[in-house]
This record gives sequence, C-alpha cells and structure tokens, in this order.
Amino acid sequence: MQEKILIVEDEPSLRETLAYNLNRQGYLVEVAADGQAALAQVKNFNPDLIVLDIMLPLLDGFEVTRILRQEKSTPILILTARDDEIDRVIGLEMGADDYLTKPFGMREFLARVKALLRRVRLDRDEMETTQSEDKEILSSQDLSVDTTRHEVMFAGKVLRLKPKEYELLLFLVRNKGKVLSRDLILERVWGWDFSGGSRTVDVHVRWLREKIEVNPATPSRIVTVRGGGYRFDG
Ligand code: CA
Repeated sequence: MQEKILIVEDEPSLRETLAYNLNRQGYLVEVAADGQAALAQVKNFNPDLIVLDIMLPLLDGFEVTRILRQEKSTPILILTARDDEIDRVIGLEMGADDYLTKPFGMREFLARVKALLRRVRLDRDEMETTQSEDKEILSSQDLSVDTTRHEVMFAGKVLRLKPKEYELLLFLVRNKGKVLSRDLILERVWGWDFSGGSRTVDVHVRWLREKIEVNPATPSRIVTVRGGGYRFDG
C-alpha cells in the first residue's frame, strides 16, 4: 500500500521540491501552506507521516503539533530554520518524532522520512506481538510496569507518563543494575536515526525522577553513573 505524506510548508519552492521528490519515491503526497489548512488536511487525507515547518501563517508548527497530539500519534518530522527552535521542540516535548534544520539536503530528508515510516511499522508490529502475549508485569519495590496495558503504578497509584517516559522507564527496569550509556538509551528508546542528542535523555530522566523518586534531587532509583550514563537500581 502506498504510504501517505502531508507536507506543511509555506514557502512554495521548498514545498514543491519536497512534494516532487517524495512523489518520485512512490509516496502519495498532499501539501498545505498554513497551519489551519494542515489540520483540515490531516482529517481528510489521514497521512502516515507529516512533514511540518515551524514558522507558518495562521497557526505555527508548535500549535499544530499540540492540537494534533490531543488525538493523533501520526509521526511528525519538524523542519526548523533555527537551532533555538529545536531547544523549544525538545523542551516542550511537543511530540515531534524527528527534526531537520534548514537548509538540509534532499538525500538526508528522504532518509529521515524513510526511517520514520519504518519505525512506525516496527512499532505497530511490536504492539501486535505484545498484545498476543501473556500479561507481563515488571515490578521493583513499590513500582510496577504493566507492559500489556502500558500502565505504571507507583506507591499504589497509576502514574501519568508521556510515551517516551514510559519507554525509557521500561528500558531501565528491564536492564536493572546495568550501566546504560546515553547513546545506548538514545538508540533503544528513540531509535538510531534520532537527531536530538543526549540532552534529550537527561531531560526525560529528570522528569521520570520527579515521578518515581522519593527525593528527586538525590535519586536512589535512577542513579547517574559518572562518565557512564544511568543505572536503574530498583
Ligand atoms: Ca516557514
């Protein structure tokens, strides 16, 4: 089946170039030139991937992502013009799956698109496998992770975790007692093609600590190993 990609970019020449190249790769492509049109197109076209510029008329890429994420998990490849926008993307954990800073090469762009779509397919397959397996609950002291329901209980309460926080916690718990480098965590939790860098890991670890540590400032569960990375101690 042909995969569908929506390109949201207000600069006509870039929009057309991207559309042309994706078309040539065999994708079904639609375009939108502003944030409001993008939201309407997502409803009608139901794309498998959204390529989204940040600086857009009417609604910017931040707003579009925020609104989309309320009901959809369609992967989003963000296009930014400035590095400080990337900081905001990560800082807000706005739900983008990857990003490229302009100007970028067409080969790089196509590689990112391909990798993202492949990752979505793998996730989907994995989810089907998980659902057919028996219920698995990993626990450590007063913390437990129900991998069937994607639910985390801490001190008798269900925690509300963002998707990446959940995946990170699961990876840590499954590797209890092992030192995990930031690079390894990035690769396993975010995917080898993720370009966000290791600060993404640090930010998520901080968020997790706030949720599962008795005293987040002096963590005893997710400990920092100097020069090594992180270790889940239970
Ligand atoms: Ca723009």
